Amino acid sequence: MTRATRATLNLRALQHNLTVARRHASDSRLMAIIKANGYGHGMIEVAQALDDADAFGVATLDEAIALREAGIPQSIVLLEGFVREDDLRLIDGFQLQPVIHHPDQIAILEQASGPALDVWLKVDTGMHRLGVAPAEVAATLSRLLGCPRVARVRLMTHLANADDHEDDFTLEQIRRFETLDDLSVTARSIANSAGILGWPQAASDWARPGIMLYGVSPFNNSVGEQHDLRPVMTLRSQLIAVNRHQAGEPIGYGGSWRCPEDMPIGVAAIGYGDGYPRHVPSGTPVLINGKRVPIVGRVSMDMLCVDLRNCPKAAIGDEVILWGEGLPVEEIAEAAGTIGYELLCKVTARVGFDYIHE
Ligand SMILES: *Cc1c(COP(=O)(O)O)cnc(C)c1O
Repeated sequence: MTRATRATLNLRALQHNLTVARRHASDSRLMAIIKANGYGHGMIEVAQALDDADAFGVATLDEAIALREAGIPQSIVLLEGFVREDDLRLIDGFQLQPVIHHPDQIAILEQASGPALDVWLKVDTGMHRLGVAPAEVAATLSRLLGCPRVARVRLMTHLANADDHEDDFTLEQIRRFETLDDLSVTARSIANSAGILGWPQAASDWARPGIMLYGVSPFNNSVGEQHDLRPVMTLRSQLIAVNRHQAGEPIGYGGSWRCPEDMPIGVAAIGYGDGYPRHVPSGTPVLINGKRVPIVGRVSMDMLCVDLRNCPKAAIGDEVILWGEGLPVEEIAEAAGTIGYELLCKVTARVGFDYIHE
């Protein structure tokens, strides 16, 4: 039998979450963001299930090429653009839309022969990662429009703090983007998931939902269910041992946790070698037979231990859910001092994936 440590990916939930994005961004087209292997869910399967998306956004040329080779017909946007002239030949060949965020890219476009491309011009409204300052946009746009390699130009920007409802910087970024309203471009795009769900002022021609498609809240104080989102990934394993230990016995590496009384300890066949975060403290929950049960001691590479005092009937072979249906990944991420995005991306290749439609 293959190992029971597997992820179930519910493509029906994914499709539902796209309709939630549509509901919130009803006047926008949707560029579904599926970089980093579809946030760890399997990029091709995600793209095929999201055939209703108007475009896809990825980070790398390799991701975009894999989508085209799988027969994905929608527009594909390269969110980081390109670095070398060689990349342009692939962009032409696979009909990709690069994001232009730096004058060096325009210099490459001006020197290279080839067909005219649709591009996105990235405006830095305050994130200060990629993009052209608002004051430079008019000149950059005319340079682009004067380049035979450029067909249509769309404007986009990215919100830095939209996950915090209280942070006015989002409104300041939107205001800076609005100073470009008079420029003649064919479309504009502002909102990521947090913008779509939390900032109606960020509505524009295109929205770019990422994490919400996977059922996870982009905000630091809510879980997906509160936004009518359904978790797509459920990470599961099973108990491979149930042992009784005596009061005072240490559990696991370093003996960081000791049994307060004689008690049953379960061992689940999942650890940081599967992508479960090593840094969660004792007390972080897993679900066994629908009940929350706390992890005790350090997470190992292939196993973790749980306190079964509240679940005395638990037996070898019982299913253990680490996150997903019934246990939001947001909660585990918080315990690990990170965000759901990171946990979803980090599930490792030895975890088998099962795609379902329920
Ligand atoms: C990743 C990304 C998104 C999606 O962000 P979420 O927070 O996952 O919704 C949108 N736009 C750009 C440019 C991105 O890099």
